[in-house]
This record gives sequence, structure tokens and C-alpha cells, in this order.
Amino acid sequence: MKTLLLALALYHPSAPWIPPARFDVPYPGQMFYKQVDAWELVDYCGGNAWACTLPHYVGGPCVIILPKTSAVIDRNMIANLIRHETGHCNGWSPEHER
Ligand SMILES: [Zn+2]
Repeated sequence: MKTLLLALALYHPSAPWIPPARFDVPYPGQMFYKQVDAWELVDYCGGNAWACTLPHYVGGPCVIILPKTSAVIDRNMIANLIRHETGHCNGWSPEHER
């Protein structure tokens, strides 16, 4: 059920997961992607997150932690998670200000 809700949230066209325009831009620094198992995701990101960025300064290397691709978490969902997390790389705070 949680996954279904995530899918609905991700695919809704005006969903709040999309970063505000000022953060929804290509990241100017190096980016790294690490896909991990669900239990590792909790270690890296906490229990309620589907992905996260590791602490960084904007412009420096930004590491995005992602779930592994699966039947449930498909490439399109991963792409959406990357778009969201790239906003965080660009300085969008965890409070998701608009
Ligand atoms: Zn976020």
C-alpha cells in the first residue's frame, strides 16, 4: 500500500515532490548515485525516505542514495526520485519549501 501511494504521489502531475523551478535545474557539481537495498536505505536516509542526498555543500560532490530498481520501483520512478534529490543537491532544504 505504501508503494502504491508513493507511485500515485510520484505520477501526479502537480505533485509536491517536484522541486521548485529554482532548484529543478541541472546540478553544477559532480553527482554520484548509489542504489542500495531497502535496509541500507533506512541506514542512510532514515525510515521514511525513499531516497536522500548525503550532506554536501552546493557545488561540491553530491551523493544520491536510491533504492534498487525492481518490479515495483521501476526506472521511471528512479528518474523521478533523482529529479527530486537533484533539487536537494541544488540546495532545496529537507523542509521542501516552495
Ligand atoms: Zn525531499
